[in-house]
Amino acid sequence: MQFDVVIVGAGPAGLSFARSLAGTGLSVAIVEKLPESDLVNPPFDGREIALTHLSAELLRGLDAWSRIPAEEISPLREARVMNGASSYAMRFNTARRSEQELGYLVANHLIRRAVYEAAAGQPHLTLLAGVSVARVDTDASGARVRLADGRELAARLVVAADTRFSETRRRQGIPASMHDFGKVMMVCRVEHDEPHEHIATEWFDYGQTIAMLPLNGNVSSAVITLPGHEIDQLMAMDPAAFGAEITERYRNRLGGMRLVSTRHAYPLVAVYAERFVANRFALIGDAAVGMHPVTAHGFNFGLRGQHTLAEEIKAAASRGGDIADPALLRRYQSAHRRATWLMYLGTNATAMLYTDDRLPARVMRDAALRIGNRLPPVHWAVQARLMESGGLPRPRLPPRT
Ligand SMILES: Cc1cc2nc3c(=O)[nH]c(=O)nc-3n(C[C@H](O)[C@H](O)[C@H](O)COP(=O)(O)OP(=O)(O)OC[C@H]3O[C@@H](n4cnc5c(N)ncnc54)[C@H](O)[C@@H]3O)c2cc1C
Repeated sequence: MQFDVVIVGAGPAGLSFARSLAGTGLSVAIVEKLPESDLVNPPFDGREIALTHLSAELLRGLDAWSRIPAEEISPLREARVMNGASSYAMRFNTARRSEQELGYLVANHLIRRAVYEAAAGQPHLTLLAGVSVARVDTDASGARVRLADGRELAARLVVAADTRFSETRRRQGIPASMHDFGKVMMVCRVEHDEPHEHIATEWFDYGQTIAMLPLNGNVSSAVITLPGHEIDQLMAMDPAAFGAEITERYRNRLGGMRLVSTRHAYPLVAVYAERFVANRFALIGDAAVGMHPVTAHGFNFGLRGQHTLAEEIKAAASRGGDIADPALLRRYQSAHRRATWLMYLGTNATAMLYTDDRLPARVMRDAALRIGNRLPPVHWAVQARLMESGGLPRPRLPPRT
């Protein structure tokens, strides 16, 4: 089986990349260890993905956005960051911008379903589901991919999108720096008595971090970060006791809360690959940059990175060039590093500082919020980065006399 491109992993990044190559005439295979039924109808996994404006635009370009039911897209109008026992909040909203919302919240399984539907049936795309990639060998002349069932694929380029713990990355000998935060994040949907007004809160309390992400209706995604043994207890509680526990932990801010979904737990490990490319090989998605979810950038970066690589490949293919040319791959690598490295470091630093409850850290946590709020250029810069809508807001003009 001979292909131009073999993609390892049909998660949202791998499928988006496959769809990005539509219309190029390149033959593409995508290998996924999950059965095809899980791609056609992915189960709810608790993650509600905060999408930036750039990501919404990219998903429109992939013909995936319109496949997400409109009522499942929740606008995010304001975000508030709070610290410890204080009610002081750093606020981000669109007051001085042209956009109506900071971004959108969409459940991860619906994004997966939409990109699958957009890619399914694409000419020159072969989906090999229900089988793992066992081995990848590449050299300057080509790549060979061995599947767990013994089949072999040959390719001009292999692109790995096989999770932040990418086995393919390891087999290629590409090291990755990993930071284990020693905490677990639990996510689920809760219904509550009071309206959220489409305001998200990230509350770095002492001893716990709780985010509430506003979904349509009186429903929020509760995102709770705690040591693993405490998360185990929350996961094991019966639904009524769990609702009461979250109401109490969130200090009744949205009234009584009731569990309305399954609960899911994710260990918090951030990963950054030392290189994104090798001989006829590239990493995309979490396999390249696996973010801590606190700044909600993981999939946003995944979408951006696959787009950058696909644009390079399309340009090479249209002029009959080598789609795995080392210079092309290096251009992708440096563009994606530039787009992600600072945010990766900043996100890790934020997550570490705001889960450190010692006195000096408490003082710094409070000071950082106040400085961020009171220095408009800093505030706008952070907001523009979070929204990925480009540019800083124009200064307000004085009224006409
Ligand atoms: C709690 C939580 C909240 C998040 N919130 C946000 C957010 O608000 N905004 C945001 O942008 N991001 C967020 N993220 C991050 C986002 O979910 C990830 O960045 C995204 O899912 C990564 O997609 P991916 O395709 O790279 O990898 P994955 O989704 O991990 O998919 C990888 C695929 O590869 C397959 N695979 C693995 N190994 C093999 C193999 N050997 N052979 C074949 N197939 C293989 C797997 O089965 C899987 O289908 C969040 C993450 C978590 C955990």
